[in-house]
Amino acid sequence: MKPTGSPRKTAFIRSYGCQMNVYDSERMADLLTSEGYEIIDAPGDADLVILNTCHIREKAAEKVYSELGRLRIGKAHAQTEGRNPLIAVAGCVAQAEGEEMIRRAPAVDLVFGPQVYHRLPQLLVRASAGEKVVETEFPTEEKFDALPNDRRSVTSARAASAFLTIQEGCDKFCTFCVVPYTRGAEFSRSPEEIVDEAGRLVAAGVSEITLLGQNVNAYHGVDGAGRGHDLPDLLDTLADIDGLARLRYTTSHPRDMTQKLIAAHRDNDKLMPYLHLPIQSGADRILDAMNRKHTASEYLTILADLRAARPDIAISSDFIVGFPGETEAEFEATLRIVESVGYAQAYSFKYSPRPGTPAADSDAQVPEPVKAERLAWLQDLLERQQFAFNRNTENVVLPVLLDRVGRMDGQLAGRTPYLQAIQVDAPMALLGTIQQVRVEKAGPHSLFGVLAGGAVPVNTETRITLLEGMTS
Ligand code: SF4
Repeated sequence: MKPTGSPRKTAFIRSYGCQMNVYDSERMADLLTSEGYEIIDAPGDADLVILNTCHIREKAAEKVYSELGRLRIGKAHAQTEGRNPLIAVAGCVAQAEGEEMIRRAPAVDLVFGPQVYHRLPQLLVRASAGEKVVETEFPTEEKFDALPNDRRSVTSARAASAFLTIQEGCDKFCTFCVVPYTRGAEFSRSPEEIVDEAGRLVAAGVSEITLLGQNVNAYHGVDGAGRGHDLPDLLDTLADIDGLARLRYTTSHPRDMTQKLIAAHRDNDKLMPYLHLPIQSGADRILDAMNRKHTASEYLTILADLRAARPDIAISSDFIVGFPGETEAEFEATLRIVESVGYAQAYSFKYSPRPGTPAADSDAQVPEPVKAERLAWLQDLLERQQFAFNRNTENVVLPVLLDRVGRMDGQLAGRTPYLQAIQVDAPMALLGTIQQVRVEKAGPHSLFGVLAGGAVPVNTETRITLLEGMTS
C-alpha cells in the first residue's frame, strides 16, 4: 500500500495489443514522469491508472469493461482510505467507444484516443477537478512535437532494444480492420525528428531500433527543406548512426514493398534479415473481399525478390481464417501459400467482426466450429514450419543481442537476427551487448545457446552465414 502523505504522484499503465501501443505507453510514461509522476507496477497503489487498449482482438471492448469492473472495486476501496485515484482508458477501444465508455463504466474519469495522449497533463487537470473527460478527435497539431524529447521510460530501464514510431494511421481500409477509424489517416513524422529520437536512444545505450507504423513501409516523411524521404532513405540515414547495430521495421503492407525497399535488404547491413509481411489469405477472391489490393501471386513475387536480395531472410505473416464467404477450397489456398513460403513465424486468428467495418455486416459469416477447425489446421502447419526454421539454426553461431535477464539464474535472454527468442548462459555483465552465440538446442518457440567467440562490435555486425540450404 502506498504510504499516506507520499509527496509523489504515482501512475500505473497497462498496455494491450501491438508494439505501437507499447511505444505509446512508453511515451505516456515519459510525459507523466516529466510531470512529476512515478511509474509503478501495482495498479492498487496508483493515483492514476491508464489502460492503453487494443481493438484488434476478439471481444476487446468487453475485456476492457471487465478490467474496469475490477478497477472500480479498487477505486471504491481507495476512497474509503481518503484517496481518489483516477482511471483513464486510452488507445483504440477508447477511440471506438468514446462517451459510451463513461456511460457503461462510470468509475472511468478520462477517455482519450491514440492521437491526443500528448495532451494528458491538461486532461488530467480537468479530470482531477471532477470533470468526466472524453477526447477522441484527430487533432491537426502534431502529437510528436508536443511530447518530451527524452525517452526516460526506455533509457531509465537501460534497454538495449527500443521501438520508435515513425508513421501512424492507415489509408488502406481493409474490410476487417478498425485501424483507419481508430488511428486515422496515414501520417509520417519528419526524418529529422526520427533521427533525433534514434540518436538519443543510442546515446542512452540502445543498439537495436524497431521502426513502427501501422503501414510502416508507406512512410513518406518530408524534411525541413521540403524533400520527401521514403523508408529505404530513412533506413539509410539511421544506419549512419554510430553505435546503432540493428534496424527492424514493422508492420508492412505488400503494396508498399517497393524494389527500392527490397534492395535495402541487400544493401543495408544494419537491417536485420527478418520481415513481417502479412498476406492474411492465400485466395485471391478473399484478398479482394478484404480489400488487400494485391493477389497471392503478387505477394509470392515480392518474397522471391526479397529472397534474391537477401537469401537468408526470415518471413513472418498474419493470417485470418474464416473471413466471410471463405470456402473450403479458399482456405486450402491459404494452406498452399504457407507450404510454398515456409514461414519462420506467424500470427493467425479466426475472423471476428469488428463493429463499424464493412466485413462485419456480411451475411456470409463462417460458422464458429468451421473457423476453429481451419485455425487448428493452419496453426499446426505454421508451428511445424517455425520449429523447422528454429532447428535449422542448431549448431549455428549467430550474433545475439542480449537484451533481458534470462529465465534461469546465470542466463540472459535475447534475439537472433531472425527475431528468434534465445536463452543464453551468460553473465549479467554482458546484458545489452551483442555476442556470438552457438545455438545448442531449438524448441518450437525459442532457442538455447552458449557463448561462442566473443562480442560482436556494434558497428560491424557481419552478415550471417547460415547452414547451406537454409530458407525460412
Ligand atoms: S493495411 Fe493494416 S492497418 Fe491498414 S486497414 Fe489493412 S490491416 Fe488495417
